[in-house]
Amino acid sequence: MPLALLGTGVSRGIGIGRARIVRHGDLDIPQYRIAPHWVEEEISRLTAALETARAQLRAIREQIPAAIASDIVGFIDAHLLMLEDQALTGAPAEIIRQQRFNAEWALKLQQETLLRVFDEIDDPYLRTRRDDVEHVVRRVQFLLLKGPGSHDRLGPTEEPDRVILADDLSPGELVTLHRHGVAAIVSERGGTASHVAILARSLGIPALVAVHRADQFIRDGEMVVVDGHVGVLLTGLTEADLASYRQRQTQERRRRADLRQLKDVPGRTRDGVPVELAINIELDADIAAARQVGAAGVGLYRTEFLYMNREQPPDEEEQFEQYLAVVRALSGAPVTIRTLDAGADKQVGGEIAPSCPSALGLRAVRYSLKEPELFKTQLRAILRASAHGPIRLLIPMLTTLEELAQVRQMLAAAMGELAQRGHPFDPTLPLGGMIEVPAAALCARQFAQRLDFLSIGTNDLTQYTLAADRMDQAVGHLFDPFHPAVMRLIQLTAAAGEATGTPVAVCGEVAGDPFFTRTLLGFGVSRLSMPPAALLEVKRVVLESDTSRLRPRVAQLVECSDSAAVMGLMEEINALN
Ligand code: PEP
Ligand code: MG
Repeated sequence: MPLALLGTGVSRGIGIGRARIVRHGDLDIPQYRIAPHWVEEEISRLTAALETARAQLRAIREQIPAAIASDIVGFIDAHLLMLEDQALTGAPAEIIRQQRFNAEWALKLQQETLLRVFDEIDDPYLRTRRDDVEHVVRRVQFLLLKGPGSHDRLGPTEEPDRVILADDLSPGELVTLHRHGVAAIVSERGGTASHVAILARSLGIPALVAVHRADQFIRDGEMVVVDGHVGVLLTGLTEADLASYRQRQTQERRRRADLRQLKDVPGRTRDGVPVELAINIELDADIAAARQVGAAGVGLYRTEFLYMNREQPPDEEEQFEQYLAVVRALSGAPVTIRTLDAGADKQVGGEIAPSCPSALGLRAVRYSLKEPELFKTQLRAILRASAHGPIRLLIPMLTTLEELAQVRQMLAAAMGELAQRGHPFDPTLPLGGMIEVPAAALCARQFAQRLDFLSIGTNDLTQYTLAADRMDQAVGHLFDPFHPAVMRLIQLTAAAGEATGTPVAVCGEVAGDPFFTRTLLGFGVSRLSMPPAALLEVKRVVLESDTSRLRPRVAQLVECSDSAAVMGLMEEINALN
């Protein structure tokens, strides 16, 4: 009999294959005391396991496809850093020395201490880091129990086309599964923004999360189907059902192949309106993807990743080298570099921003203006790179015109310093501002009059308009870009751009969602920047759209009274010929 288990689809696509059940929770951690003369031996055993875990993660890091490097390398690097941290090296060794527990138990005790600290932190982002602690400790414990040749709890996953049903998966495990040609993954833990979800999307693996105890209903080796579009895991299907899913899978693959043909086609609507389709990047390694999808440039370079996982900020020279590498790789296409957007969901540590500001706190441009030397260092590095190719400068989270005036002063000062040093730069470098705060959207006209372009950050604009922290699962149901209030602010910003002749971009998540493309075009948005994997699908919609027909329909969106009405109207707009 067919059985459907519901979950949350976090990575689209259909996966078909035999189930493989992986339960990390089943790892039995033995507890025993060791004789005093074995203490040093036990510590060496722990040290060796830590070293093997580091070597495994380094090897996994090498297997990550270049085109999606930044998403994943960041997660693996965070685990590597943890494996070098005193909290996971020195502290368990001390437990072995003081309490004479075996290494596995010492790690468990230390893990409990660390998790208690994380549980007390009232910050949804940092709370997600507790998963990292669990993943790292689990890898080391597994090595201690099974010996250095063992890898992880995945078992025989080398067989391709397996559907993994797990209680939890780590980023490293996901990379290994991808290499072995996994068909889909289903996890009990994790949400839409969890690491496993982000990675699955980047790697193109159909994935579900929040599917509870699938192992109670499905046996190892049973044939299952994962539908990542609707978020369902199916088993007990007839041959005819399976054949129909296989057909859908083939159609999807064919469609992806067809999309690749659009790579070099210019982004232009049917009525001839040019639309700049660019990509969002986080590290210079991401630019390989720009070429693969024929992007018109980089619409958002999130530079905060240069500042993460380190004590001291990168100096001017280091930043200059990074920006230069991106500019050179884009060979003449524009690169939009956003200045440091520290805080809230993007915590930089060490001496850079020690106070972990909240979403409403001293973050983004507020923080940069508070730390003029840090800010000017970044501005000088960006300016120097602008001598080598077209760069646009983008300021995150502007709220007041006063902030913008201060940014201009800083920019002038940075230019003055470079001129004095004899460094070339582009004195006409376009300056843009992110519209992410409702106040800025409501005053978009005033900003547009003073800026060369606007870029709507719909992720933050949604969070601030609806007062729903984007990192807090508890208010996830309120984080809704379809809300008419968000629609109105996007429309207002786009209209301000048109009235003043200022290009308006969208670079939040909705820019990469083909369901939103026609709406944004109808509002008058002329630039879209998104994750590389979304670009060709969005381009297809652009090529099939006629803005003159969209405009009157899209104008009705702002009159809708709720999200359901907005969504319904958008469906109609998307169905227009
Ligand atoms: C946004 O807020 O929509 C945006 C693009 O910036 P980030 O996601 O980096 O905050
Ligand atoms: Mg933002």
